[in-house]
Amino acid sequence: MTNPYLLPAGNVQISFSGGRTSAYMLHEILEANGGIPEDRVKVMFQNTGREMEQTLEFVAEVGRRWGVMITWTEYLATAPGFAEVGYQGASRNGEPFDALIDKKQYLPNQQSRFCTQELKIRTAKKYLQSIGWQRWTACIGIRADEPHRLGKPAPKERWVNWHPLAAAGVSKHIVGDFWKAQSFDLMLPNIRGNCWLGNCDGCFLKSERSQAVLARDFPDRHRWWEAAEARVGALETTKGRPKDNAQFSKRFAKKELREFMERQGDWALETDGILCQADDGECLAA
Ligand code: SF4
Repeated sequence: MTNPYLLPAGNVQISFSGGRTSAYMLHEILEANGGIPEDRVKVMFQNTGREMEQTLEFVAEVGRRWGVMITWTEYLATAPGFAEVGYQGASRNGEPFDALIDKKQYLPNQQSRFCTQELKIRTAKKYLQSIGWQRWTACIGIRADEPHRLGKPAPKERWVNWHPLAAAGVSKHIVGDFWKAQSFDLMLPNIRGNCWLGNCDGCFLKSERSQAVLARDFPDRHRWWEAAEARVGALETTKGRPKDNAQFSKRFAKKELREFMERQGDWALETDGILCQADDGECLAA
């Protein structure tokens, strides 16, 4: 059987979200190919500014330990549409996300997940075009146990998607076992197999419980999400537009969530995340 991690011909973008799954995928690709040819393969991390510090450290450490060049980019609202950064210069207070919200003047939500599209997918695309790429293969870390994220129509884009983890039958248990055997790891807690602080800290695709616990345990981090809703909410009022655009969730405002936690101290509603954040999925695409 052909090794599912062998690089295809041509230019290849390897999406690294800063999570354990895509890091594992990168490791397997490095092993299968004896490293990667840096002139035609780019490992890319798109920083939204809402990643935990441990994620940024992990991305930097993966690059150092495995001797692989990782390109860090961030969304810019003005041309060229991206900034190339590094561990030291990476935004840590949601600046790229704020710039996107201020440009759109409404918030992303479960139905309109434009944050992934703009902060990650299009930002990487603009960078790759800036270095002269016309067409490429996009390698995305979706596992075999995330079938709801696979089988979608091919994007009408400059790239074709490649899912080597799914082809290799990789589950989250395989990824977990791999990291248990390593001498370093992503230093974020894994609760029942889920890394609830991975991806953007208060992401609206996480469970209500995760979002509520962030408000209780990381009030400074929660505050950014509440402030974004207040800022867009003020716009909505002035412009007379529906309030819907000013909440990340249709069901609750971040402020309500915090106030609930201040009163109750715990959260007894549903516990599962949805879409890409369920089952320790990573925010990359699909
Ligand atoms: S992690 Fe959530 S909030 Fe962040 S870009 Fe992805 S979908 Fe948007």
